[in-house]
Amino acid sequence: MKYDVMIIGGGPAGLSAAIYSARGGLKTGVFEKALIGGQINVTDEVENYPGFPEALSGFDLTDRMRQQAERFKAKFIDEEVTEVGLEGLCKIIGTSENTYRTKSLIICTGAHPRLLNVPGEEHYTGRGVSYCATCDGALYRDKVVAVVGGGDSAIEEGIFLTRFAKKVIVIHRRNELRAQKIIQERALANPKMEFIWDTVIQEIHGAAKVEKLELVNRKTLEISFLPVDGVFIYVGILPNNELIESRLELDSGGFIITDETMHTNVPGIYAAGDIRRTVLRQVVTAASDGAVAAWSAEKWIMENYPDIEGIGSDDSVEQ
Ligand code: NAP
Repeated sequence: MKYDVMIIGGGPAGLSAAIYSARGGLKTGVFEKALIGGQINVTDEVENYPGFPEALSGFDLTDRMRQQAERFKAKFIDEEVTEVGLEGLCKIIGTSENTYRTKSLIICTGAHPRLLNVPGEEHYTGRGVSYCATCDGALYRDKVVAVVGGGDSAIEEGIFLTRFAKKVIVIHRRNELRAQKIIQERALANPKMEFIWDTVIQEIHGAAKVEKLELVNRKTLEISFLPVDGVFIYVGILPNNELIESRLELDSGGFIITDETMHTNVPGIYAAGDIRRTVLRQVVTAASDGAVAAWSAEKWIMENYPDIEGIGSDDSVEQ
């Protein structure tokens, strides 16, 4: 068997799992199909990860995690996983290029932005509709933009957009924000931010680019048009569960159900980070999940592969 632990996904959960697993002497491989770092890569300032009183970018934080994992000899594999199978206790991982075998598997595939699913959204994506303020915010210098949603992402990214835009209008479907109090207070006090409550977007209109939003007030059913140069959509996240959907137990939202050791319903398969059913999705909780998953995987290997001398040694490698 080639690996003791394989990790799918190189965001904070996967990187933390890799640090703990590789440092524990387990032969560890991490798959990441795009950039290492996951969703947090596009966050401009992470200011609530302990130990970094000066905020740092999501990219810098995960880059440091990757360096740390490499220091302990975790192997990063730049291939997209297309299949996960089982052969007894062994997990078989197929990519477009290779097939890997591992004793245990930690799934850290994260989540992606939920779409609004209104007419015009798809058509104007990249032409005024965006899901990433860090990527596209600078295009809206002195312009008017809308942000949809009332959670941490919408409000934090709305604040970020005030660096560029002359006005940021938050459109929220209720009259109360979901975001953490400290973030709410900052946004409500920001002179460049305005709020439209109890309202949803019905359609996105424009010509070559977005020009206006058709809004409907959910209480009065009144329809109005809001001229904007762009609209940033932050209405929640959906799990990246396509690989394992039929195999693992999921909750109604499609997030993987684990126990407190991060174990899924399949022996030797763990889940960590945003893909997992959890009460809080933060870098720090993802990192914590990853550490617990790696620790649990090691215990599981010790119990289920008692014949192998010294996990991580060459004895455990099947050529
Ligand atoms: P979220 O917390 O699920 O918030 C989604 C927001 O979008 C809610 O306000 C929701 O309204 C609204 N919404 C959902 N569907 C909608 C629709 N179809 N039309 C209009 N509005 C809709 O998602 P998130 O803000 O992306 O955050 C995801 C997770 O990451 C959360 O756990 C969050 O705490 C975490 N996060 C943390 C930080 C941080 O701590 N710095 C930063 C970013 C994200 P309702 O409120 O009415 O449901």
